[in-house]
Amino acid sequence: MLAETYKTLSDDIKSKFDIVFVSSDQDQASFDEYFHQEMPWKAIPYEDRDRKNKLSKQYKIRGIPSLIVLKPDGSVLTENGRDEFTAAKAAVIEKWIKGETLYWSRKPKDDSEYVWKTGEDDGDAVACEQCFMKPIVGDRFRCTEKDCDKDLCNECTEKNVHNEHGREKLIKYLIPKRHYSLKELLGDGQVLIRTNSGKDRLPVADAIKDKKAIGLYFFAHGYPPSHQFTRKLAEIYRQMSDSAETAYSFDIISVSLDCNDKELLEEYLQNVPWKTVPFDEAGQVLKLHSYFNIVDLPSLIVLDSKGEILAKNGSKAIDRLKLEAVEVWSKGEKIQTPLPPTPPEEFIWSSISCDGCKTFPLVGLRYQCKQCLADGKARYSYDLCKACKENGHEHQVELVPQPLDEGNQEEED
Ligand SMILES: [Zn+2]
Ligand SMILES: [Zn+2]
Ligand SMILES: [Zn+2]
Ligand SMILES: [Zn+2]
Repeated sequence: MLAETYKTLSDDIKSKFDIVFVSSDQDQASFDEYFHQEMPWKAIPYEDRDRKNKLSKQYKIRGIPSLIVLKPDGSVLTENGRDEFTAAKAAVIEKWIKGETLYWSRKPKDDSEYVWKTGEDDGDAVACEQCFMKPIVGDRFRCTEKDCDKDLCNECTEKNVHNEHGREKLIKYLIPKRHYSLKELLGDGQVLIRTNSGKDRLPVADAIKDKKAIGLYFFAHGYPPSHQFTRKLAEIYRQMSDSAETAYSFDIISVSLDCNDKELLEEYLQNVPWKTVPFDEAGQVLKLHSYFNIVDLPSLIVLDSKGEILAKNGSKAIDRLKLEAVEVWSKGEKIQTPLPPTPPEEFIWSSISCDGCKTFPLVGLRYQCKQCLADGKARYSYDLCKACKENGHEHQVELVPQPLDEGNQEEED
């Protein structure tokens, strides 16, 4: 890719910019083949391994290919030449010869402007894929067109520079940790509701009206742990709806993360008694998913009528306390007592499958065979479920201790 672009550079640019290949090839023959067949630029002779090693050390090269861009005085313009080139192709070379790097950013004007970084590393910064502001400061937008997923800054959005998929495809992110009302979170669209006559739609405002608490249920129908929890939640929801003595002021709106599979979702809709964000509203799904920073599925976030979080781990509360959890939330309150630990037979090893019966995820007691691991029958661990262990295994197996539940008190931000 770099070679193709290099060949199209004008003589003027080539007089100001050049590339030198520093080979990590195994031997002279591979170097000859690679360099002479594919590279239109210069190289340090292969036999000069000293110089190669010195350069690798000086620029702390860990992965290849790596492109370090130097200024005329020998100082580093960017160590990220590869990423910058991948993002902008020939346009970045024009910047480099002016002594500029691709990415730039600005200071926030005031506290209301958010700096879009997901962590402390430079790599965690979100870049505008149009003007290359990194991190994006201020409002952040995203194109929800399938396979586009471009991140954009406010300025680029206002100038309408990314217009091939239409303005209506762009959604504005909610600012992490900032408080929003239920209405702001859920928008003023509609939710799907299953009625006896099939599926129907209801305005969001009607769905949340007079409710003391709303559970946002994030799930992926194609992911087995979601299935199991959906069944459990549906059972509790039905008990709640059937209850004669108590009127619960609670409802659930589900947010599907695999909204592309229409057939699967029709099936889902026929089997759940609550409301659902329409599957074609990819923007709304993305907004909620990113705002609540959902990492594990399924996940039930419970909010009160003002949008304050009552429970981040609502699925665990439902798991342990069943209808009791709903009773507390229905008063607009948080659950104060610590949740009892997960019974061993219900514990879900979310990333582990049984190497015997291949069930994924492994649920309940988990056993490991060190011999099978040593024999190369598994990469990280050879695991068996309780049933497979009881069916008999040729080697000695050990019970894997169940991890402690992380604190179930909701941490304050
Ligand atoms: Zn921009
Ligand atoms: Zn787009
Ligand atoms: Zn098994
Ligand atoms: Zn074994």
